[in-house]
Amino acid sequence: MDKSEELSLFFEKNRLKTFKNWPFKLPSACTKEKMAAAGFYFAGSKSEPDLACCFVCLKELDGWEEEDDPWEEHSRRGECDFIKLNKTEEEMTVMELFDLLVKRRLNQMKIASSKKIKALETLGQGYEEDLRNS
Ligand SMILES: [Zn+2]
Repeated sequence: MDKSEELSLFFEKNRLKTFKNWPFKLPSACTKEKMAAAGFYFAGSKSEPDLACCFVCLKELDGWEEEDDPWEEHSRRGECDFIKLNKTEEEMTVMELFDLLVKRRLNQMKIASSKKIKALETLGQGYEEDLRNS
């Protein structure tokens, strides 16, 4: 994802555009409009037809059901600064938007560092086994 694509996800209408073949329509509670309003953009593929990702906390959720309320599902999956702010795009100030961008960056760093830690742990386990076997 390039920078301009990434920034475009901060706007609800652009998130909405990412849901091309979303399986749920009205009267379902889980429409693409509600998904976009709850901070999600489509992150799936053919093999993952309902994978959505939050533009701030980067949480990925799939297995959506017709009666799921995207905002509720989002708020039940741990802390998210977009959910915490609880404002529509029109209500948000530029500073609040900027703050969400900072939070997105922090979450990206958290994910990247936890991946590195896992890789180091795996490496460490490998060494331990080598030592035990030598
Ligand atoms: Zn989120």
